[in-house]
Amino acid sequence: MDTTDAIVIGAGQAGLAMSQCLSERSIEHVVLERGRRAERWRSERWDSLRLLTPNWMTRLPGWEYRGTDPGGFMTAAEFATHLDRYADATSAPVHEEQAVEALTFDGDTYHLATDTSTWRARNVVLATGWCDQPAVPTVAASLSSRITQVVPRDYRNPHMLPGGGVLVVGASATGVQIAAELRESGREVVLAVGSHSRLPRRYRGMDIFWWLERIGNFDKTIDQMPDPERARREPSVQLVGRPDGRNLDLTELQRRGVRLAGRLEMADGARVTFADDLAATTAIADQRMQRVLGEIDRHIVATGLSGEVFPSDAPRPVRLQEPAPRTLDLHAAGIDTVVWATGHRRAYPWLQVPVLDARGEIAQRRGITSAPGLYVLGQRFQHHRNSNFIDGVGRDAAAVAQHLAPRIAAAARH
Ligand SMILES: Cc1cc2nc3c(=O)[nH]c(=O)nc-3n(C[C@H](O)[C@H](O)[C@H](O)COP(=O)(O)OP(=O)(O)OC[C@H]3O[C@@H](n4cnc5c(N)ncnc54)[C@H](O)[C@@H]3O)c2cc1C
Repeated sequence: MDTTDAIVIGAGQAGLAMSQCLSERSIEHVVLERGRRAERWRSERWDSLRLLTPNWMTRLPGWEYRGTDPGGFMTAAEFATHLDRYADATSAPVHEEQAVEALTFDGDTYHLATDTSTWRARNVVLATGWCDQPAVPTVAASLSSRITQVVPRDYRNPHMLPGGGVLVVGASATGVQIAAELRESGREVVLAVGSHSRLPRRYRGMDIFWWLERIGNFDKTIDQMPDPERARREPSVQLVGRPDGRNLDLTELQRRGVRLAGRLEMADGARVTFADDLAATTAIADQRMQRVLGEIDRHIVATGLSGEVFPSDAPRPVRLQEPAPRTLDLHAAGIDTVVWATGHRRAYPWLQVPVLDARGEIAQRRGITSAPGLYVLGQRFQHHRNSNFIDGVGRDAAAVAQHLAPRIAAAARH
């Protein structure tokens, strides 16, 4: 059994950022990764995916984007290479192909078993990712076995799907991007639209993330949210990072021939039922968008930027082009595939320390759990709104390192 001061589980951006923060404090540690470094960016993303966040936002502790296209958007493969370089530059002690299968605590020390090794440490940081397992609604089980079902983690490109039409369920960033790509490949596409957040890619001449950072949107903390649980469940923004900077929203999808429906409610064989909520859902998303853009407008006035930026170019509210279907016979409509772009859930079957709340999420505050020396990183709204973003995980990693360091110092004194 190997012993070290701290073990980080997972070598995505969170685990690598944590490793760098521990190295800065000369804390001996290892990072255990079930696959390769940045595994999810290599094996769980579709081929055409680019980051939603511009390159200049690819900031990690001690590491910034230094390429020639700060306003561009890296492909998933480029971002995996970026993380590889980060791991090399920071000499992150990553042990690859080490899937953690059990983590126990004896009241003083954590005992960790991977498929091929055992470890002990008084400190452990869980960095296994917020976007862990696909969250597929239970109605999926009622679909006919003749319908192919795919989750985004396994989707690569249109060629891998059966030849017919596709029902994409979920209209956040993933759903709209996959729907657009499938439509472009010549498929009939129906998009079931649930609750979503809409923002334009650019506003008044600048990338929307530039504005969100400037108005302090990412600095909002979970303590400032009137309903923290709801804030953590807010749908992700319907955006795409394209080299041409164009928008991808429901208006654009309709223009390209994607049919919109309400939230998928029921399935019975090949027959699916949608809620009568499309107009209401899109109106709520439009109102939320107007609130954010209004905040940006007020910031522009308050900071004297009005003369330097373009006039307001807020997108129009979505106008539905046809009545949304309430039911659809997938076979009759020539639809062979359902893509579940319905988000993610977490699963910790190997975690044998009682730190999960009633929802099965790790109960934490600023990454600190109730088990001494057990931390978590990369949770949605862990502390700040961008805690699970590339650009946000660094300050949480620094906060965890700050809490953890005195424990190491105290242990050394005994
Ligand atoms: C499609 C998609 C696009 C996104 N685009 C952006 C974007 O443009 N900008 C942005 O800021 N954020 C984006 N995000 C959000 C976020 O940046 C990613 O989810 C990112 O992968 C989170 O990094 P992480 O290190 O927290 O987790 P992960 O990248 O999920 O890393 C966790 C690591 O833990 C490993 N692991 C899991 N279980 C075990 C185990 N039992 N033992 C050992 N290792 C284990 C995994 O193999 C993985 O390598 C996107 C998310 C998705 C899903």
